[in-house]
Amino acid sequence: MEGAINSVTKKYIMALSIGLDSSYQFPKEEKWYLDPNDIIDYDKEKIKDVTKIEVGYRKGNDSVINWAGTEYAIAPCFFIKNKTDLGINIVPESKEHKLAKNWIYNRLINKNLSFKFAKISKPFEYDNEININELNINYDKIGIEVTVKNNKTQRADIILPFKKYDKLFGSGIVVEIQFSKQFESTTTKRNNEWGFKGYSICWLWKDDFENISENLIELKEDTIKLEPLQKIMHEFAENNLYDFKHKLQEISRMIEEKMHELKYPFLIGECKKCNRGYMAKKQNKSTKKYFYSCSNWQEGCKHSINILDGEN
Ligand SMILES: [Zn+2]
Repeated sequence: MEGAINSVTKKYIMALSIGLDSSYQFPKEEKWYLDPNDIIDYDKEKIKDVTKIEVGYRKGNDSVINWAGTEYAIAPCFFIKNKTDLGINIVPESKEHKLAKNWIYNRLINKNLSFKFAKISKPFEYDNEININELNINYDKIGIEVTVKNNKTQRADIILPFKKYDKLFGSGIVVEIQFSKQFESTTTKRNNEWGFKGYSICWLWKDDFENISENLIELKEDTIKLEPLQKIMHEFAENNLYDFKHKLQEISRMIEEKMHELKYPFLIGECKKCNRGYMAKKQNKSTKKYFYSCSNWQEGCKHSINILDGEN
């Protein structure tokens, strides 16, 4: 398993975070419990309390050389000490989950993950660069989630939270590894969703990787493109403001046309402000312009509507 519950802090901790940098200095000496959410079924005769199933911490291997001569690390994990005796079945880890986990673990342990990004002022130029080292990652809170659709793993979300909020990047970075095709509108939607949660986002597609082994994928390029939170939110605001302005303009034009069609009648209905008078056409004595004003003016209603283009 990739995580377990610490018996003292009662917190769910990922094995990967212990391998990287953690407040759990001696994980093997501490007591860890299986997260009951990981259980599919178990022998009820043998296990009385599912919240107290002990698991062990297995340190990963930071240097393994595979058949292709590539050196890589294996992420640490948790294991159930006497799984078969206890008759426990746990949720299997998907292949994609394993790939995402090993990839990020290798990148983080070697500190060789760099992002290139654009700032708002230069929306299309990704000419800024930052290394993972320069970001204040909270290794204890790293998370990996996978999305399954039609029995197929679609996406792995690697969540890298910061220790402190950053003005440009927000609360952290989400790396989305997309294993199947995706519509561009879905990408924009996901960007906004993560943006509203306060995260910057980085997309990696199947084509960005090369397969090294069953358990290992590696990036073709070393620097990956990042969309900073500030940029996502700025673009969201711009697009929606544009939409809003457009709709407003359309509505004004429709009203204008309707009024023109009606030749600006003497009365255009009740006053929506005081609900007592009627909006009646009047002419300004000095400017000669026509406008509508509330017939209830004597009781203090000053509601008026200008007639555009000086029409009458
Ligand atoms: Zn009125």
